[in-house]
This record gives sequence, structure tokens and C-alpha cells, in this order.
Amino acid sequence: MDTIFHKIIRREIPAEIVYEDEHLVAFRDIGPQAPVHVLFVPKQTIPTLDAAKPEHAELIGRLALAAAEYARSEGFAEAGYRVVMNCNGHGGQTVYQLHLHLLAGAQLGHFGA
Ligand code: IMP
Repeated sequence: MDTIFHKIIRREIPAEIVYEDEHLVAFRDIGPQAPVHVLFVPKQTIPTLDAAKPEHAELIGRLALAAAEYARSEGFAEAGYRVVMNCNGHGGQTVYQLHLHLLAGAQLGHFGA
């Protein structure tokens, strides 16, 4: 399983990387849906949240905590932000490597169908 996000992780295509550690990489979304739109992606291949196993719990937690830390470090945690994981077709997932969206920098509307 290889996706555009794997290519970003391997530095085969460019991305504006804002954070990286041994477990994950975070980079700006190419089609931002908010003034701040960053994707947090594990380096380990996990295609969807639906494919995640109990052994991935710590890694998925790391994505959320890295997003929260980024929000604090950039100064928008207090104002607030949203994190989203889209899963499979009805969830709107288009890249099949699990990722967490961090959206911030404006008042976000409520969402649904
Ligand atoms: P999904 O719809 O939840 O799978 O989110 C995939 C996201 O990846 C979308 O918001 C796209 O705009 C974003 N995206 C696709 N290709 C790239 C890229 O090459 N760099 C950065 N973001 C990308």
C-alpha cells in the first residue's frame, strides 16, 4: 500500500512539513479548508481508522497529542480548533493512509451531511 502521503514521508514529493518525529509527520494540507489545515500522518502504514488494531492505539493517540501540542505551540489552542478523521467513502476519505486533520484559525461551523 503506497499513497501520496507515503511519498511525502519518504521526501519523494514536496510538502510543507511543520512537525516530524520517529512516529509521525505533520504537513500543511494542499487544499486548506481553514486558515490552518495540517495533516498528522503516522509513518506506519494504516490505511483507514477502520483498519486500525488495538496495537495502534498508542500511535493514534500520538497523532491527537501531536496536533494538540502543535495548536498550543502556534498559539491557537485557547481560541479552539477541530480534529477530524475521515474514514472510507461516506466519510469522505480520499487518501488511504490514516491521517488526522487539524483545522483552526477561524470560527468553524457545525457540520453534518
Ligand atoms: P481525506 O479526504 O480525509 O482523505 O484527506 C486527504 C487530504 O489530503 C485532503 O484534504 C487533500 O487536500 C490532502 N492532500 C492530497 N494530496 C496532498 C498533498 O500532496 N499534499 C498535502 N495535502 C494533500
